[in-house]
Amino acid sequence: MILLNPGPVNLSDRVRQSLLQPDLCHREQEFSQLQQKIREDLLKIYDLNPQQWASVLLTGSGTASVESMVSSLIPPDGKLLIVENGVYGERISQIARIHEIEHSSINHEWGEEIDFNFLETYLKDNRDLTHLAIIHHETTTGRRNSLEKISSICQKYHLSLLVDAVSSFGAEEICFEKWGITALAGTANKCLHGVPGTSFVIVNRNAFPKVEANPRTLYLDLETYCKKQDAGETPFTQSVQTFYALAEALAEFHDQGGWKARHQQYKLLMNRVRNGLKSMGIIPLLPDGESSVVLNSFYLPDGLSYQQLHDHLKAHGFIIYSGQGDLSKSIFRVSTMGAIQPSDMDRFLEVIRSILNP
Ligand SMILES: *Cc1c(COP(=O)(O)O)cnc(C)c1O
Repeated sequence: MILLNPGPVNLSDRVRQSLLQPDLCHREQEFSQLQQKIREDLLKIYDLNPQQWASVLLTGSGTASVESMVSSLIPPDGKLLIVENGVYGERISQIARIHEIEHSSINHEWGEEIDFNFLETYLKDNRDLTHLAIIHHETTTGRRNSLEKISSICQKYHLSLLVDAVSSFGAEEICFEKWGITALAGTANKCLHGVPGTSFVIVNRNAFPKVEANPRTLYLDLETYCKKQDAGETPFTQSVQTFYALAEALAEFHDQGGWKARHQQYKLLMNRVRNGLKSMGIIPLLPDGESSVVLNSFYLPDGLSYQQLHDHLKAHGFIIYSGQGDLSKSIFRVSTMGAIQPSDMDRFLEVIRSILNP
């Protein structure tokens, strides 16, 4: 089965085989070395200095890393602004609400470009804000939000920038230093091609709240993990086998040429899909250049429901992804993540052609 959903992804043989390594206790030195290697290899992706940056590994899906970041880094007297234009931005507001973090949200329609002028006006009127959270790639629609623009606004208004890069880390440009990123959440099983179960936060070592305060969460407290992992330990049982897979996926990632190579590979696949679908009259939701290379949304062809398209493709070995909420009736989504080849995309297009012209 070829998975064109935005994670979990098709595994390479190399990553799949890595799951079969020996049983391992998470309190032993071998685990400590495995953990350390992953932490270093994650920082290498964007050339980050381990003195200044920490990668912190969590057992849980991408949402765990986002919740850990948001619940751990805003001090009791801090105030968070969430800029939303999709499901995942709205999820951050939900996290803030549950953890009783003082916050406000700027809500856009799903897929809409962020209104930077409005954002600036809002910040001028709300000088008590301390943090801003944003989704890098809104997987709801495929829109890549401009971290460059957001970051320059954050720097101007002295806001700490928290980024959900769960579906872009490893495949899109991220300039941690230049953009003044405070922390960023990612996961093993999207653009890094590992298995689901491990997620991580890349955090500036100066980002932890200075004031002594009770953590809002026991299991997801980022500083607890960071301190333990710096000492070669782990506060709780980690998912050992998914660590094996992530270590191998990162080795493969670096062997294949790092994030720029992965970006190019995804771009090649996505251009093939976009052009192929366009030639059949299937229109992308967003104009060229506004989407990530990781996922694009397309309008369903006339007379074909998502379920019909999905089931036909599944019968031929492909999984696509539905739209969420109101978009579920009008769009479908195609992702390029995972160990897939241009020839897989050509076959995918053939199957779509066959359903349009039976
Ligand atoms: C996938 C994803 C998440 C996390 O989803 P999980 O189901 O918890 O892995 C968070 N944010 C974005 C932008 C995502 O694409």
